[in-house]
Amino acid sequence: MPARILDGTQIARTIRGEVAAEVAALAAAGARPGLAVILVGHNPASEIYVRGKVKACEEIGIYSEQHAPSESATTSDLLALVEDLNRRDTIDGILVQLPLPSQIDAKKVLMAVDPAEDVDGFHPVNVGFLSTQRPGLVPCTPAGVIEILKRSNIPISGQEAVVVGRSDIVGKPVAMLLLNHNATVTVCHSKTRDLAAVCRRADILVAAIGRAGMITGDFVKPAATVIDVGMNTVTDPAEFQRLFGADLPNNAQREATFRKKGSVLVGDAHPDVVEVAGALTPVPGGVGPLTIAMLMYNTVKAAKMRRVIGAPVTATK
Ligand code: NAP
Repeated sequence: MPARILDGTQIARTIRGEVAAEVAALAAAGARPGLAVILVGHNPASEIYVRGKVKACEEIGIYSEQHAPSESATTSDLLALVEDLNRRDTIDGILVQLPLPSQIDAKKVLMAVDPAEDVDGFHPVNVGFLSTQRPGLVPCTPAGVIEILKRSNIPISGQEAVVVGRSDIVGKPVAMLLLNHNATVTVCHSKTRDLAAVCRRADILVAAIGRAGMITGDFVKPAATVIDVGMNTVTDPAEFQRLFGADLPNNAQREATFRKKGSVLVGDAHPDVVEVAGALTPVPGGVGPLTIAMLMYNTVKAAKMRRVIGAPVTATK
């Protein structure tokens, strides 16, 4: 039987509805949450992501403002902007869209964001809060993975979880969150020996690699849950054929998209995983929509921690 498809679009819609209700209550109390997004230069992919984030703010009722320093901006320019935003009372969340141009010291800029407003959850203070299970801001995509599992009634506690990928923005925080939810967690990477055998131990397999269709059905224990974080654009017809040649559900639809657009978005899970897994997040429409929903959630969380509860994550404001 094909895997149950976990509808990230629907889950994200529900979360956005919940967040919108909180925003309305905060706004009525005179504390409308605010998000500042910094986008340096003209990276087309980043421009699309930032547009999506600003649009989500508008739909949910969060105040937002966009700052667009030029491509030639320096580290000092960015530090001055971040310091200014840190001090502004109407701003609860600050997001620096990555990647930054190479002349800018990205780590220095991210470190300058007040941890209480670090809605991406990348600041080492928030990383520390996550690993010591203190209240803080959790990276959006990993938080979205947990929301999908919980809202799909997939148990985490006591389960074997395998995370493939150890990046600071996805793999490590997903692993930490699963551990905090009492899973038994194994983290894999490019040096892991016999990756398929390790993955086959998983009740919950999280793929955060960035390689189209690398996790094939033989990496998956029958009936396991597969959370596919990967987002890979396939343009090569031979690669498309390798992935979608077999007669599997939705392949005809993919083929039509590929013929029309010349590209298709593919996860790290191979399409044949649907025949083995018990539950699977699709790409697109799985983890992706959760990322912006959790950014909105984090902005409201930051606003509440700072303004309503009166207990900021740090004492900087
Ligand atoms: P990343 O920083 O490039 O990390 C990739 C990880 O995969 C690394 O830890 C790497 O191991 C591991 N890896 C690479 N090749 C491998 C192999 N052959 N076997 C085992 N492990 C391997 O990527 P990322 O930023 O974490 O993103 C991962 C994927 O998630 C990408 O497709 C990205 O587009 C997607 N993503 C999606 C969202 C969303 O909203 N849905 C958000 C963020 C990222 P080493 O550490 O040993 O190099």
